[in-house]
Parts: sequence; C-alpha cells; structure tokens
Amino acid sequence: MSDVAVPGENTTRSKARSGVTVLAGPTAVGKGTVSTFIRDNYPDVWLSVSATTRTARPGEEEGVHYFFKSADEFDSLVEQGDLLEWAVVHGVNRYGTLRSTVQAAVDDGKSVLLEIDLQGARQVKEAMPEADFVFLAPPNWEELVRRLVGRGTESAEEQHRRLETAKLELAAAPEFDYVIVNDDVSRAAAALVDLMGLTPHHLA
Ligand code: 5GP
Repeated sequence: MSDVAVPGENTTRSKARSGVTVLAGPTAVGKGTVSTFIRDNYPDVWLSVSATTRTARPGEEEGVHYFFKSADEFDSLVEQGDLLEWAVVHGVNRYGTLRSTVQAAVDDGKSVLLEIDLQGARQVKEAMPEADFVFLAPPNWEELVRRLVGRGTESAEEQHRRLETAKLELAAAPEFDYVIVNDDVSRAAAALVDLMGLTPHHLA
C-alpha cells in the first residue's frame, strides 16, 4: 500500500488571483479540520456554508457549519439552479454550494473559500476556471490510512471503500493549480491563507 504516489507541496503562484479558492483533497486528509481552523482563526476568509442532506452532528449549527436540508428541499435547490455545484459524497448524502451567497461575497470583494469534494471541485472548474484550485494532500499514504482508521467513525468495510476512493482522489492532484501538504493543521491553514493573498498571522 505504501507505493501510492502522494504529491508534494506546490504553492508557486501560476495564475492571477480570482477571489475564489477551492480546497479539495482525498477523504480523511483533514479538509474539514483545516476549514474549521480557518473559520475560527481567519475572519478575513469568507468560508462558504454548503447545503447538505445529512443530519447535524453534535455541536454543528444551522447556517454556520451547513444549511441542513431535507431531500425535497435539496431537490428544489437543484431544480431552481441555486447550486453552483453539488455531489453525492461517500455514496450517501448530497452536498452543494449555494450560488447566490458565493456570488454576493465575490461581488463584495471578499476572499471566498469553498471546501468541497473532488466531484464538486471539477464542476466549479467548468463554471469558474479562473478560480484557484488547491489540493490538500497527506504527508504520505501511511498517514492518510492512519487518519482514516484512527478516527474510528467508519466500519472496516467502509474504511476499505474510502481508501480505494482515496487512491483515485490522489491521482487527481495534477488537475489542481496548487498542492498544500496537511502535515500540521495550523501550518497548512496559514499556507492556504497566504496563497489566498491574506496575512497568515499565525505563522508569526
Ligand atoms: P462532512 O459530512 O464530513 O462534513 O463532509 C463530507 C464531505 O463533503 C467532505 O469531503 C466535504 O469536502 C464535502 N463537502 C462539503 N460541502 C460540500 C459541497 O458544498 N459540495 C461538495 N461537492 N462537497 C462538499
């Protein structure tokens, strides 16, 4: 399993900043942890709040972590074209980015961050190719396995399925403009904020 290729960090600017940054990466790499860290420490980042059909976990708040929707409500968002992108993640729940709130933030000149899955990132790339696409990578394959198994939230069968998915997801890294290695949450968050053109004050 250790022969899975993992991309190294690349934050060399290769295109003009658009104000919209998409953060994606394989399952269990810590996208949620990095975006929570950013929500708590970098108020200058406008973190998009997604709609989802999954139920709230303890501590999650409506409108802060997600907009929690019923299947019917999510259907209407899709039908009305209200979603910039949406996807079924891990074969279960639907997640999507609300087009109007992102557009309003962009129009306001905010630095917008979307933390979404790979399928969603590909849709945003179709709709907004000028956005900055950042791939969050694990330090190495063993560490990704350790994080997935270690959090103990999935059955052995589900872990195996997600690791197979993670291999495919890692192979998508070349589709992204930049790679940040999540070796340490505060460092990865600072690198992302720096890439977005904001001050990574936590490095100081
Ligand atoms: P969780 O249920 O753990 O909060 O998130 C599960 C997955 O859904 C994560 O991989 C996260 O990146 C993804 N996700 C969250 N919001 C969105 C969204 O708006 N669109 C897409 N495509 N994926 C999302």
